[in-house]
Amino acid sequence: MSGVFGVYSKDKSVNIAEKIYYGLYALQHRGQQSAGIAVRDKDLIEWHKDKGLVPEVFKSQDLDKLPGDAGIGHVRYSSSGDVSKGNIEPLVLKYISGYMAIAKNGNIINANHLRGKLEADGCMFHTANDTEVLAALLTKFRISSEHIEDSVEQMVKYIQGSYSIVMITPRFLIGLRDPLGIMPLCIGKINGATYVISSESAAIDAVDGEFIRDVEPGELVLIDSDGIQSRRLFDCKKSSLCIFEHVYFARPDSIVDGVSTHDARVNAGRILAKEHPVQADVVIGIPDGGTDMAYGFAQESNIVAPAGLLRNKYVGRAFIAPNQNAREIAVKIKFNPVKTEVKDKRVVLIDDSIVRGTTTKTLVRMLREAGAKEVHLRIGSPPYKYPCYFGVDTSSRGQLLASKNDKEAICEWIGADSLEYISYEGIIKAPVNSKVDFCTSCFTGVYPVDIPKEF
Ligand code: 5GP
Ligand code: MG
Repeated sequence: MSGVFGVYSKDKSVNIAEKIYYGLYALQHRGQQSAGIAVRDKDLIEWHKDKGLVPEVFKSQDLDKLPGDAGIGHVRYSSSGDVSKGNIEPLVLKYISGYMAIAKNGNIINANHLRGKLEADGCMFHTANDTEVLAALLTKFRISSEHIEDSVEQMVKYIQGSYSIVMITPRFLIGLRDPLGIMPLCIGKINGATYVISSESAAIDAVDGEFIRDVEPGELVLIDSDGIQSRRLFDCKKSSLCIFEHVYFARPDSIVDGVSTHDARVNAGRILAKEHPVQADVVIGIPDGGTDMAYGFAQESNIVAPAGLLRNKYVGRAFIAPNQNAREIAVKIKFNPVKTEVKDKRVVLIDDSIVRGTTTKTLVRMLREAGAKEVHLRIGSPPYKYPCYFGVDTSSRGQLLASKNDKEAICEWIGADSLEYISYEGIIKAPVNSKVDFCTSCFTGVYPVDIPKEF
């Protein structure tokens, strides 16, 4: 999981690096490990990147050093694999036509295979990042193709997996989305002269832009002074947007492939309430993922939903804490029940998902300590049973609670009075009027592309 953001402007007065900075700030939830910006100024591309959060990585003097007319940025998640500085995106490299910068959200599942072949061909790599494999392929194909779009078209024939990419070449700002559309990507415009490509529409809002449309699965978008050109690189029959964008990843104020994430979560809450009603006094959502779902659950079941759980704004994602003890402490620092809202009450506790179960187990205990009479757990996605190979951190999925335990065992371990999940049919219909279908392999174990044996 990552966030990407690109800007091109014909208007010389637009500060490209600053726009990207604010765009990345709005995409911070998609990755907290590192951040980077690369900006093209005539024939050169300058960049600044480091480990850390967006405001930690960039000081205003860093942005001042990045003038230009087009640029891209990246925030990186992924706690698996190598977090060394060399892997931080955007990657900037020299190729036959000049300089190129590239940043990706997603995971190329056959990257190791391709890397091996390229290495055998004499290709040299500087990073362990699969994005560099894409850059190497592009560089190679660019030598024998007339235009950059032709080399992109060649490259995509070789790569498999999920990818939403932004790129800068001497001529274009480029956006590219994989044929299944697993990760989101959309286009916006600021005033008349500035174009934006972003992982999420909320980041277009953040730079005062206007959302134009989603990049379609399998679409290549090229932006320069002539405006937007588009090429369909695949005949896409069935798309596979990661359902977790609606469940958890995307901001609730984003519209992903035609659907408001907030609406999808509220609907999931409503469906959950219909499928698994509870006699209770209050509905409490676990922020941020469970908040919108709790709102829908409360509406449907006519139970009040007070702000019964405080979420400390200054704590990041507890999920990435390195060990179980640290994770439990992180949950305690992150959340605290508002005692007057839960004391002597029957509580429905809503979360978007259970992964290891740390969040829910810790919170059920905290609610009981705060005097809750009963705690009924309702989850807005089906049991998370199978690893993801498309960008969600697989190593942290290693201890998937639902892969080895049934509902009753999980409920007992968590210590709730009851536990129910939304059905598979329920979560699929929660994003009403979606333009795309969904990847649900984490629930079903059925993957939209063949997974290499090495996994
Ligand atoms: P658990 O505590 O059960 O291990 O994890 C579930 C919690 O983590 C939920 O509150 C959910 O919002 C959040 N979550 C679910 N999937 C992910 C993910 O891929 N990354 C991060 N950082 N959090 C996640
Ligand atoms: Mg959560």
